[in-house]
Amino acid sequence: MALIVQKYGGTSVGTIDRIRNVADRVIRTKRNGNDVVVVVSAMAGKTDELINLAHEITPTPDPREMDVLLSTGEQVSIALLAMALKEKGVEARSYLGGQAGIVTDDAFGKARIQSIVSDAIRKDLMEGKVVVVAGFQGVDEQNNITTLGRGGSDTTAVALAAELKADACEIYTDVDGVFTTDPNVYYKARKIRRISYDEMLEMSSMGAKVLQIRSVEFAKKYSVVLHVRSSFTDEPGTIVCQEDKEMEKVLVSGVTYNKNEAKVTIKQLPDRPGIAAQVFSKIADANIVVDMIIQTPSAEENHANLAFTVPITDYDQTLKITQKIASDLGAGEVVGNKDISKVSIIGVGMRSHTNVASKMFASLANEGINIMMISTSEIKISCLIDARYTELAVRALHDAFELDKPPSEESL
Ligand code: ADP
Ligand code: ASP
Ligand code: MG
Repeated sequence: MALIVQKYGGTSVGTIDRIRNVADRVIRTKRNGNDVVVVVSAMAGKTDELINLAHEITPTPDPREMDVLLSTGEQVSIALLAMALKEKGVEARSYLGGQAGIVTDDAFGKARIQSIVSDAIRKDLMEGKVVVVAGFQGVDEQNNITTLGRGGSDTTAVALAAELKADACEIYTDVDGVFTTDPNVYYKARKIRRISYDEMLEMSSMGAKVLQIRSVEFAKKYSVVLHVRSSFTDEPGTIVCQEDKEMEKVLVSGVTYNKNEAKVTIKQLPDRPGIAAQVFSKIADANIVVDMIIQTPSAEENHANLAFTVPITDYDQTLKITQKIASDLGAGEVVGNKDISKVSIIGVGMRSHTNVASKMFASLANEGINIMMISTSEIKISCLIDARYTELAVRALHDAFELDKPPSEESL
């Protein structure tokens, strides 16, 4: 008998009818002779609604209470799904993250799973029950409720699959799989049949929200093969797995965009050893992760302009910190810009091919799009641009690298 972990996202459990549809799918899997553990997200829009409620009370909710609040979204879905399963004659039991033995660190809002004590789940499975687990949450060692960051139900599913040594981990969502770019942005986006963990890691960290980045990190670390697919059809989706020779032949696998960063520039910063270290250590002390950085000479001799990007959620705090540093160091003004976005191209084939970067820059230039910053890794190139041109840039890059055309091994 195989053990299958299935995760259903917010849209897939967005209405009572859809919860019944999920129950039918789970029952089909069970009747095919499998044990099933189901992880569910909050119903579509619920988490945003809860965040808005908190912000009606205060712009800076207490992190612990915020997690108590946000975890309730998933509590609703597990109970409803377990009821739907029972109504259809299948024994099921729902569990909150903590009840399912998911222990995390105490970083409220972005907690990391540290261990899973799966005895209760195993016992239910032995008794033939379907186990329904709330995604996106756990408890810390003090038994405080924690949440795993937006999209965290993916990570719950993969972590459970790893702990239970599941035979399959299926991520059911509202699109048919992982596409060459967001299918809701470009109609020419093509479903990728197989993608390597490393490419998927870059896709997720560069903005493709179809899988939370930590879920891919877990999958890679514990060799959990993922099947990302639609909860509305029976079409095969995308397999996320170890890289193989065929994958290397593909130059660029995907284009992503991320509108969730902001740019901060400190003008006329004295240009001497140790200055960058001072600036970025203050920002790091506030637990803010800096992404792209560029330093250019300023008009005044021995001075430079230093620009960098941070998550948009940390923007206000970064401005405050940076203004203080700028005045301490006798620098010029600090300028912020939230209307930026990062477009990236990703592909393992880039390692062994030249001219990929120049082709990317040329296709942005052809559309009259100015590049503010560039960053690269072995398998990715990112450009920071004006947010207004995001969709235009995504389509231009998708066309330039002909991503709508299947690579030869995929053209069945
Ligand atoms: P779920 O609620 O099922 O977790 P999400 O909204 O988190 O679903 O993720 C699915 C969404 O991810 C899709 O609706 C799509 O708009 C978006 N997306 C962004 N980039 C991609 C991509 N490269 N392939 C597939 N979907 C993508
Ligand atoms: N409900 C959470 C969110 O909206 C977690 C998830 O859906 O994966 O981010
Ligand atoms: Mg998601």
